[in-house]
Amino acid sequence: MDMKIGVIKGDGIGPEIVDEAMKVLDRIGEVYGHSFSYTQLLMGGASIDVNGVPLTEETLQAAKESDAVLMGSIGGDAKTSPWYQLEPDKRPEAGLLKLRKGLNLFANLRPAVLYKELKGACPLKEEIADRGFDMMIMRELTGGLYFGKRSTEKVDGVLVAKDELTYSEEEIRRIAKRGFDIAMKRRKKVTSVDKANVLDSSRLWRKVVEEVAQDYPEVTLEHMLVDNCAMQLVKDPAQFDVILTENMFGDILSDEASMVTGSIGMLASASLNETKFGLYEPSGGSAPDIAGKGIANPIATILSAAMMLRYSFDLDKEADAVEAAVEKVLQDGYRTIDIMSEGMTQIGTQEMGDRICSCIA
Ligand code: NAD
Repeated sequence: MDMKIGVIKGDGIGPEIVDEAMKVLDRIGEVYGHSFSYTQLLMGGASIDVNGVPLTEETLQAAKESDAVLMGSIGGDAKTSPWYQLEPDKRPEAGLLKLRKGLNLFANLRPAVLYKELKGACPLKEEIADRGFDMMIMRELTGGLYFGKRSTEKVDGVLVAKDELTYSEEEIRRIAKRGFDIAMKRRKKVTSVDKANVLDSSRLWRKVVEEVAQDYPEVTLEHMLVDNCAMQLVKDPAQFDVILTENMFGDILSDEASMVTGSIGMLASASLNETKFGLYEPSGGSAPDIAGKGIANPIATILSAAMMLRYSFDLDKEADAVEAAVEKVLQDGYRTIDIMSEGMTQIGTQEMGDRICSCIA
């Protein structure tokens, strides 16, 4: 298979961690007979320095012409970086918002996996951490409360603020289909999270999700109220496979799920549109405090590349190989500084990439 990958290395640790993910992709290419070609795209601070804006139209177009985009992270230290003296719409993050919008990325995927080798970092009780967990939070990204009409006005001398929560059946259907498709590649269970005991938008959500479920008889569907889901994530996270939910609930639950894994350098993510295209990036930021030191953990970016193999290229076996290689390196006791613990061997960014590559054979 011949794939064209747009690469946004970005700022801070971005270039260091993306280099390792490309190394791993190239290793997969060698072993499984694929070729990945890369087009370097400038975004964020790196683009401001060269082009004066965080994302040019040409770069957006080049991203659209790729089969998928692999990204590091963008942004700098808000207190010291000159990028943050600019107007908000010229700052690094504005490039990312424009990219997401331009690519119509409406589905956000964030896996939360507790590796048994890292369970010491999990803040949950030992008996819960011992059971491990491996879930995928699928969040609708372009609708709901964050994109509704809003206003603040005085009514009878009192300030009143309003935010509108709107979902159409089409918006719900397209994310639900994506959620069930992802579940088919996993353990075939979808937990749809809503607040259907109170909200009309949630009742429509539930109705449409049930309709979509008819087309996926192999997938078990359950509904859960968002307040209960927030509790279950800390009480019994092992019960979840795919959590499918709307924008604001997903925003909150995905952060909660990430935090129970305990390690930011391990958290991959993807944002998908209606085609096979996706933007793949680690959940963490550009970590300016450790940039250029060669100590950043590249695993989240490498696992994001594995998601690209699975969800954009349908290369499931190859994605499994990357994930197994990451696990093997952890089993062998190698750690970057952020996940280091007593008795383990501390290594840097490049060595972590090299060791993961050497476990892919
Ligand atoms: P951050 O995630 O960059 O860093 C938080 C802490 O986690 C730091 O101590 C950092 O050293 C550590 N860390 C993060 N990733 C790591 C890794 N791979 N290996 C080892 N340690 C790691 O969050 P922040 O400091 O709040 O933000 C820094 C910059 O990143 C800001 O400009 C912010 O806007 C930007 N940011 C970008 C994205 C993105 O590109 N999607 C996401 C979040 C934040």
